[in-house]
Amino acid sequence: MNGHPTRPEDFDLYALGVLEGEEKAAFEAHVPACAACAEKLAEARGRIALLAFSAPRVEPSRAVKERLMRQIHSAPAGAGTQRERATRQPERAEGFFGRWWAAAALVPVAAVLILFSVRLWQQNTRLIDELGEERAELQKQQAQLDEARHVVALMEAKDTRTVALASQPGMAKGDVRVMYNAKMGMAMCDGWVDPAPANKSYQLWLVPMEGKPISAGLVEYSNGPMKPWMVKLPPGVEAKAFAITLEPEGGMPQPTGPMVLVGPVS
Ligand SMILES: [Zn+2]
Repeated sequence: MNGHPTRPEDFDLYALGVLEGEEKAAFEAHVPACAACAEKLAEARGRIALLAFSAPRVEPSRAVKERLMRQIHSAPAGAGTQRERATRQPERAEGFFGRWWAAAALVPVAAVLILFSVRLWQQNTRLIDELGEERAELQKQQAQLDEARHVVALMEAKDTRTVALASQPGMAKGDVRVMYNAKMGMAMCDGWVDPAPANKSYQLWLVPMEGKPISAGLVEYSNGPMKPWMVKLPPGVEAKAFAITLEPEGGMPQPTGPMVLVGPVS
């Protein structure tokens, strides 16, 4: 036999020194000449070494022990009554559980527990990874849904105002619209404006009837056109105008640069 070992646990079993007979011979005939398998064996040795090294500190949980013992003592699939089983010829253990049984007979239980822990640990790591990805995806979708709901609410509200911002003379070209609802404290900005110079940002401001301008976010670009955005503002602020100014990159707490686009709230 010269093919790759077909059972993934062979690498761990070999690394533990419990692969025997023909299987061991076939394994040794193939693996040193196969780079992929040699790497798998090196990984298996690393795992075993790591776990063996930490074994005195990491006691397998009671659940792991019990599960292992149950599998070690479990009857072969399709076993009948105890009486039938007792009269049956001893059969060669087959499959994954059978190999566990064989391993258990050949090596100290501690080593089997280590090997078993490796398997559980790999499964757990994979499950945790998958769960994490699913949760992140779910949160992203939830956030998008929330935003879509807010946009719809903003557009449908009768007291939402649409403000058109026009380029100021000598300034960058642009055409920007802001939808603003004072009661909801929500604004949405859409349109386009020529990209800001290097190390500068365009910043949108709500200019209230009274008091200082309130930042309503920075213009961002995604592969060209301006990225529309929605912003939560303090509710109940009557707006006199919306304006976009040119500011140092990242924006400022209060406007410092020239007004590029302005739109009065009529
Ligand atoms: Zn191979």
